[in-house]
Parts: sequence; C-alpha cells; structure tokens
Amino acid sequence: MASHIVGYPRMGPKRELKFALESFWDKKSSAEDLKKVAADLRSSIWKQMSGAGIKYIPSNTFSYYDQVLDTTSMLGAVPPRYNWTGGEIGYDTYFSMARGNASVPAMEMTKWFDTNYHFIVPELGPDVKFSYASHKAVDEFKEAKALGVDTVPVLIGPVSYLLLSKPAKGVERTFSLLSLLPKIIPIYKEVISELKAAGASWIQFDEPTLVLDLDSQQLQAFTAAYADLESTLSGLNVLIETYFADLTPEAYKTLIGLKGVTAYGLDLVRGTQTTDLVKKDFPKGKYLFAGVVDGRNIWANDLASSLSTLQALEAVVGKDKLVVSTSCSLLHTAVDLVNETKLDDEIKSWLAFAAQKVVEVNALAKALAGQKDEAFFSSNAAAQASRKSSPRVTNAAVQKAADALKGSDHRRATNVSARLDAQQKKLNLPILPTTTIGSFPQTVELRRVRREFKANKISEDDYVKAIKEEIKKVVNLQEELDIDVLVHGEPEASILQRNDMVEYFGEQLSGFAFTVNGWVQSYGSRCVKPPIIYGDVSRPKAMTVFWSSTAQSMTKRPMKGMLTGPVTILNWSFVRNDQPRFETCYQIALAIKDEVEDLEKAGINVIQIDEAALREGLPLRKSEHAFYLKWAVHSFRITNCGVKDTTQIHTHMCYSNFNDIIHSIIDMDADVITIENSRSDEKLLSVFREGVKYGAGIGPGVYDIHSPRIPSTEEIADRINKMLAVLETNILWVNPDCGLKTRKYEEVKPALNNMVAAAKQLRTKL
Ligand code: GLN
Ligand code: ZN
Repeated sequence: MASHIVGYPRMGPKRELKFALESFWDKKSSAEDLKKVAADLRSSIWKQMSGAGIKYIPSNTFSYYDQVLDTTSMLGAVPPRYNWTGGEIGYDTYFSMARGNASVPAMEMTKWFDTNYHFIVPELGPDVKFSYASHKAVDEFKEAKALGVDTVPVLIGPVSYLLLSKPAKGVERTFSLLSLLPKIIPIYKEVISELKAAGASWIQFDEPTLVLDLDSQQLQAFTAAYADLESTLSGLNVLIETYFADLTPEAYKTLIGLKGVTAYGLDLVRGTQTTDLVKKDFPKGKYLFAGVVDGRNIWANDLASSLSTLQALEAVVGKDKLVVSTSCSLLHTAVDLVNETKLDDEIKSWLAFAAQKVVEVNALAKALAGQKDEAFFSSNAAAQASRKSSPRVTNAAVQKAADALKGSDHRRATNVSARLDAQQKKLNLPILPTTTIGSFPQTVELRRVRREFKANKISEDDYVKAIKEEIKKVVNLQEELDIDVLVHGEPEASILQRNDMVEYFGEQLSGFAFTVNGWVQSYGSRCVKPPIIYGDVSRPKAMTVFWSSTAQSMTKRPMKGMLTGPVTILNWSFVRNDQPRFETCYQIALAIKDEVEDLEKAGINVIQIDEAALREGLPLRKSEHAFYLKWAVHSFRITNCGVKDTTQIHTHMCYSNFNDIIHSIIDMDADVITIENSRSDEKLLSVFREGVKYGAGIGPGVYDIHSPRIPSTEEIADRINKMLAVLETNILWVNPDCGLKTRKYEEVKPALNNMVAAAKQLRTKL
C-alpha cells in the first residue's frame, strides 16, 4: 500500500511555531525554547503520518521561516551584506536574511507561484562562493529516524532553486542564473551522500518550476543537472515532485527522460491534462506519485472519483508502481479540522484539512490495494452527496442570475471622459484632487471596542456609538487637513490581518463560513485565515450603507463608499471546487452590485471598489492569462455598470507590477484608480512613458505607507512633478500608496498635511 505526502504545514494546529518564533525574536524566550517547540511539532507530525499508515513520509519540509531560504543556507549563498563568516549558518544569520537586522534590511520576498505563501528570493551573482553550510536536511532525517520514522528527505531541486532566484545587484541584466548549476551541484552531491550514509533510501526533489512556461534551454538545465547527479544518486530511489499545474508536453518529456530518476510526482488536481499525458506515455518500471488529494483547498476528497482515476492509472503504470499522494505540499491548506469548534457538523463533514487529507491519502492507497475501508468510503460518499444536494449550497435564483451573465458584456453606457465631465459638474473638485485609500489608524481604544463587541461584552448600541465617534474624528481630521474626497476610516471592519477586508464582507454575505483555527502560513510567522465559500453567494441585506451614509451626513465634502471587489474576495478565500471559479466570482459580483446601487441610492456619489488581489490571481501559465483577465475584469465591471454617469467609481490596487496587464486595468473602466507606486516610481510610470493612453483618473501613491517615515512636502511635490511629466494634469489624483491602518496618528497627520500642501503648491503653478 503506497501512500505519500508531498509536505506538511509547519505552524502547528494552533500556530505554536508562530508564537515560539515571535517570542524568540522579541527575546522573551531562548533558542532552546524555540528548538523544543519545533522538534515537538516535527515529531508529532511524523508520528501522525506514520500512525495513519503513510509509507513515504517527508522530512525537511519543516522550516523556521521558508524552505527556499533553507536551501540558500544549505548552499551557503548568504549575500555579503550579512557579514557571514562561514561555518554552519545559525539563527542570527538566518533570521537576518529573513527579516533584516538593525543595520541591514531583509532579502526580498515574493509569492510562491500562485499561492499566498511568500518565499525569500535568493540573490546570486558570479562571485557567490557556495559551501555546504546547513545540515538541516540530514539532521531532520536523522531526527525522524531516531523517533522510529523512516522518511523521504525533501530538497528543493537545483534547477528550480536557480530559476526562482534573482541576479544580485549590479549584474541584473547580464547574469545567467543557470550558469551557476555546475557550482551548486557539488553541494547537492555532498548532501545526497550524507543522506545515503544516514540510511535514506528515497529522496524527493521539488522541481515545481517544471510547470511554468519554460524555453528549451531551461528544460535542458534539468536534463544536465540530473545527469550530473546520477552517479551520486545511484542506490537511491529518486522522486521528482512537480505541482500547481499541468506540465507542457515538452516539460513532461524532459521529466520522464531525466537520468537516475525513478519516480514522478504529478498534480492531478490542477493538472487537468496530466492523466492524458501519463496514459499516452509512461516509462516502464518507474513510479507515478499521483497527486489526487488537493493540497490547495479545504474540501474533503471525492474518494470514489479519485479511486477510479487511480485505478485507470494503475492499469497504465503497473500495480506496484502507483503511489497515492497529495497534489502539492499541504502547506497551503489549514492544519486540523478537530480544532474547529464553531463550524456546524454538516459543513464540517464536507471539509478536510491537512490532518484529514493524510487520512484520505491512506484510505485511497488501502482501497487500491484491495483493503477498502467501506465505512470510511460510504460516509465520504454521504458527505459528498449532502454537499451536492444541500439547500445551503444551492440558491436557484442566484444560479440563474449568474448564468445569465456568461457570454454577455457589461459596461457603463457612457464613455469615461464624458462620465468624468458629468462627475466634475457634481463634485466640483480642484485639479490634483487629494484623497486617501480607506482605512485610518487603528487605535488601542478602537481595537478594544471591537473586541468587546465581538465578545458580547458591550451592547450593540454602545458599539455603534463608539464607531460613530471614531468616524466623526476621522472626518474632522480630514476636513482640517483640507482633503478633497473623504473616507470614513473603516473603523467597523476587523483589522488584524489583510484578509479582513474580505472577512468583513464575507460575514455579511450568505454562502460563506469562517474557521477559528484555519490558518495558512503567508510568510515567516504570518498566517492568514481565509473564509470558506461553500455555497451560492447572495447579499441578504445592505452591508456598508449605514456606515457610509452616517459618515456622509457628517460632511459636505464627498465621502467615498468603501467596498472590496469580487475578484479580491474570491482570491483571498478558499473557493468551492464544485463549480468554476469564474461562476463564484460572478455571484460575488452581483452581490457587490446590489451594494453599489444601494450606496448610490443613499446619496453616496463616490464609491471605491478595492481590487487589491486582482493581479495575484493571474494563472501560472501565459496561455491561461487572457481567460482569467477576461472574467475577472468583467466581474469588476458588473459591480458598477448600473450606476449613473455622475457616480464616480474608484478602484485601488496594492501592487505596482502590473505593466503587463495594463490593458486589462484600463478595461476595468473605473473612473479613478489609485495604485501603490512610491516604492517603484519608474516601473509604473514607464508604461505611460512608453505611450499607453490612459484617460481615466489615476492616483499613483505619492508616499510609502509601509514605513513610519514622514515624507516632506518637497519630496511629495517632486514625485507629483514626475507623474505630471507623463500623465495629463486633469486626470492625476494625489493620495498615499495604500490604507493607513498600520500607521500611527503621529505619522499620518504630518504626512497627509505635507501631501495636501504639495498638491496645493502645484495647483498654483499649473
Ligand atoms: N481600503 C483598504 C484600506 O485602506 C484597502 C486595503 C488594501 O488595499 N489592502 O485599508
Ligand atoms: Zn492597497
């Protein structure tokens, strides 16, 4: 019975690692304390998997921060600025690279493929001196062995490591990262030899970059790397693990042609064409690790359907050569359903977190070997059936309305320049109008009020009163500062983490459920708790109208209504897997549309619909970009296609790296877009410099809100001048990069004051 788990969450069922790390960083506990928490977590995970009957159990998938940074440590590829002097890399150097220290900032962090996990990007140049500087992989293997668990050590493969790196400063344009392959392979050989000596019989190389759009030179690097490793690997069973998408036929051909490799791990959940590839051509005598249990989601597996897929594959690859596996590491799902005390039994029966997925993998492996646990399979089938037929999942009216959207188009009746004219007549704004992105600082007092209301310690009346006072404060401040378009500050939204701009809406929409411990690692010790969209989405009643109209009643200036857009709600949630993502997105769009129209009716003339996560939902493969962008942008337009010309629709985006999708952004047809910009001036403005025509309002952020630094008036004026060089004066807005919720009032007041002063200074000159 062969079962395998690609990787497992590290944080622990109750985020034990997070708390241990943060207390160590704050110098409240010792390195020994941290080591103990980590060792206990690893031991319980290994024991749990071996207890469940898993045959191929991974080791070295634990990490104190990130598995790519672990590989950088293994290779001794520490950038010179961290002053590492050689030897085994310790916590100091490791965490300095991850988080920076008093004198040096952290290394860059970026998204791990299309997940919400972020890794530390290796910085490599021609001068790096590689050395074997972290024995973590071997240590973890031995640690498990001492506990009586034989594991498969997991390494990030050499080619993916290089493809995920960036060239060091100074050689950005000239350096070929793959040219380092001959330099890192010797370190891999040392690690492999030590693992062999320690008694390993299998080894897993994660090579997820194989699913990207690769050219022939990149594919060739895989062939070369494994040919070079072949003799060192001899005597070991070698698994190359890929995940997150289909392989192209060329990549698949490269994979199955690799020397010294005995097993291939494939994602059969996202890789919808992969089974066909295998059926057409699979090398005799090799193992297929079939990833049928979804590591990216929280849904229980449809065991009957997986079993039939597996049986069909078994016929192709041979009886003892098929291993049941997860589609990718379970890092991207929540940890353990047992700790969910607030979900009702029906919804719970539809779910499987990491711990439950381990059990599913094993049940499938047993069934394949003729030892089907009938009771387990039939309760799974019952749960699947209940999910299909539950009235909580299906809302016929919503289905019908969303269906009607497909294949059609939704645009506002008038073009953007005519709309801007109509809006200007109504709003009467100065040139270079000033605004902010939505949230204002979250004070201790405000957090207390919200916490006590959630815990039923204060009445709803008291809560509403406190929030109203807060809004009044924020409105008065903006009037004093002389900002043109105001916000209410988002005091009523919960603010603990980025996802809360989704949670706030999810809590008021039907079709959403919330976990108490469904945390997923985002980066380092940071976790997010995505809502679960389990059913058709609808809006039982208005969500923000009360707060926005209350805020508007406090001022004569325009008050922006503040909503999260459908694509962002979708991308920051666990989404149902029983219908295409775009269908769910259309449903959310319709709910937001109702809200937009209610805000308009309530007299709100400016409405901002944030799409902070639109860019990050872009599929991995270029061939799928157009389709995604089409329905994503369509969903956004659905939310506001019905408003009057005089109602001004804003949107906001947190990333500036969307030069490649600028035409889709224009196609969103918002009246005004505010975008993060100050950390990458040149990048964003270069699009316009290169001649892209932009006719709607645009507010590239004039200062960085991620830093406590207060920008001067001159500095902001200078930035605005740079923008004026490429953008028409009458479309430019002046605003910060993003919301102000993470800042303090001591920082926000002078910064906004300087921002308004800079705008006024320039107005007199234009
Ligand atoms: N309106 C939100 C805020 O200001 C936007 C946050 C975001 O883009 N992440 O907080
Ligand atoms: Zn933002």
